[in-house]
Amino acid sequence: MKLFDAHCHLQDPRIYNISHQLIKTAQDAGVIHISVNGVCEKDWQLVKEMSESHLCVIPNFGLHPWFIPHRTPNWLNLLKEFLESTPEAAVGEIGLDKAPWASHVDYTEQVEVFRQQLQLAKDINRPASIHCVEAFDDMIEILKSFAPFPSGFLLHSYIGCAELVPQLAELGAYFSISGHLMPMEESKAQKILQAIPLERILLETDAPDALPKSLKSSGCFPMVGKKMSVVKGVLGGEENSNYDGKIFDNVLHEEGDTSKLPKENLNHPANNSHVLAYVASLLEMDKGQLAEICYENARNIFSFEGSKICA
Ligand SMILES: [Zn+2]
Repeated sequence: MKLFDAHCHLQDPRIYNISHQLIKTAQDAGVIHISVNGVCEKDWQLVKEMSESHLCVIPNFGLHPWFIPHRTPNWLNLLKEFLESTPEAAVGEIGLDKAPWASHVDYTEQVEVFRQQLQLAKDINRPASIHCVEAFDDMIEILKSFAPFPSGFLLHSYIGCAELVPQLAELGAYFSISGHLMPMEESKAQKILQAIPLERILLETDAPDALPKSLKSSGCFPMVGKKMSVVKGVLGGEENSNYDGKIFDNVLHEEGDTSKLPKENLNHPANNSHVLAYVASLLEMDKGQLAEICYENARNIFSFEGSKICA
């Protein structure tokens, strides 16, 4: 079975130090491609390097709404430079967020920064990976004003209403599903999934977040133990850390002792199969058949000119 993780963050400081190992684990689990999204300026170089060392990594550069207050005056030029010098890169993660946790980010600025990046994605014909929380009315208005999108866009971790799906699909949206759907009441989640046209559904992990519900009881990072010391050898913790990698520092020295592992519910791309199983069960579909459909859909949206999929 071939899987495609349509959206995650392997450059996240919580897992960056072991990203090499996580990619290998994902590949062993049948994940053929991993779309890695930078969320702020300091991510972009890390994501670019990850893509250069791993054929399976599709790089995405973007400024996520939560990180807008940290942007430099030159952020947009820098983003353009990264995208122009990396033809295999898509745009992401970008978006709008009206949830209470994003209240520190001025919403007018969010809209402006989102529009600038959407325009850029259109100008250079790349798909965009979009975050939208509690802002679908504005999102739809903006998308309408920018339509059409010949290179497409995906709404990552889609948990919006089923009723919004048809107009978003009409605008060209792909709907990417992650473990964020799992805490939702099953009948509601099922209604959303059933509303999504089969040729527009994608699977993602949004790692290191959105750990599938079925894995949460273990209460710790699911990929544990002996391989950690190998990771240190491969990545060389200190030299490679634009991030300080604090969370894993102690782990890297404690080979095989899982009691010392962080008790955080961190996710990783190999868990894409758990999202697949959940979605297949709610859609009452065969897992293999759904995997094939989602894989082809992901190939479609990520087959832009210059992409690794096209090569
Ligand atoms: Zn994300």
